[in-house]
Amino acid sequence: MAKIYTDDDIDLAILKGRKVGVIGYGNQGHAQAQNLRDSGADVVIGNRDDDYGQRAAADGFEVMEIAAAASAADVLLVLIPDEVQPVVYEKEIKANLKAGDALCFASGYNIYYKQIEVPEDVDVIMVAPRMIGEAVRNLYKQGLGYPCLVAAEQDSSGKAMDVALAVAKGIGATRLGAFESSFEEEATIDLFAEQMLWPAITKLCMLYFEKLVDNGCDPEIIASELYLSGEFVEIAKAMITEGFFEQLNLHSQTSQYGQLSRGERMVPAEVRAQADKAMEGIKSGAFAQEWAAEQAKGKPTLKKLWEQVRKHPMAQAEKNLESFRKIAAKAYK
Ligand code: NDP
Repeated sequence: MAKIYTDDDIDLAILKGRKVGVIGYGNQGHAQAQNLRDSGADVVIGNRDDDYGQRAAADGFEVMEIAAAASAADVLLVLIPDEVQPVVYEKEIKANLKAGDALCFASGYNIYYKQIEVPEDVDVIMVAPRMIGEAVRNLYKQGLGYPCLVAAEQDSSGKAMDVALAVAKGIGATRLGAFESSFEEEATIDLFAEQMLWPAITKLCMLYFEKLVDNGCDPEIIASELYLSGEFVEIAKAMITEGFFEQLNLHSQTSQYGQLSRGERMVPAEVRAQADKAMEGIKSGAFAQEWAAEQAKGKPTLKKLWEQVRKHPMAQAEKNLESFRKIAAKAYK
């Protein structure tokens, strides 16, 4: 079992006297920067002078150009989208790193796939919250934590993991717990969910919708049943409170029997083979190469795929239920 660190295992003192630079003030940037500041860290923001930069200034931060923040910081959190990190790193960060700095990522992707290569005298660490940015901030304000993964990929100072843990504590994650992990494990778990689990769930939902429409059921009632009712969310919540399998006890026995007796048939050998194929693409780097080539071409396939799903009849049913959806959404804000 992975080691889990909590607040009592961690000393924030390692951040004392060191400037923490947060590059980016978006989903994770705004949340982590404010939590770190509230935890006593000396935080500066690196961002272009635009809406995000102005938001950081309005929140009372000193905001600098990215290169200046990279130069000023001793611990630098890279909290801009993974897709833009390699270019921003080459142009604005690399030359401004000094020996003994720590470069901290919130995802394993760019280091694991060697899209970013860091000088040997700089620590490379990861603090990857398993939580959206808004909740990272809100949970912190409520005194609550959330899971995160921590790793030290390059430990030049001999203290890289201590710095990672201090950041994890500073952002409030270790009030619940930080799992010791690696860049490879984080990237693999993330990509496998994105390429196996979520696409399968999405496609099965679409199939459920299509088959019921084919069998004379009303598209809006199906969309409501499927996700607009919020039942999906309640089941996911019950997986935390009751357990992944034990939540089945909240359903009728007819439902329990249907789910437990039919589940295996829905994952035939072909699906298992596709899961292996997705894993192969992740491990070999083939997916990372395909995605880099797609980005270099201006993402034409991604645009086409978006056009296709937006034309699906389920999207139309959702549009027809716009006002219903807005009322339902209030329960989940
Ligand atoms: P965002 O999309 O919210 O990042 C927006 C920020 O990035 C803004 O400050 C924006 O500033 C800056 N930015 C965007 N493009 C550029 C560019 N080309 N050059 C310079 N700055 C740029 O990112 P996230 O917070 O979602 O993700 C940050 C990291 O956190 C990623 O590694 C991600 O994998 C990880 N992560 C994200 C989670 C999430 O909840 N979203 C959860 C866990 C980890 P500007 O206005 O100048 O464009």
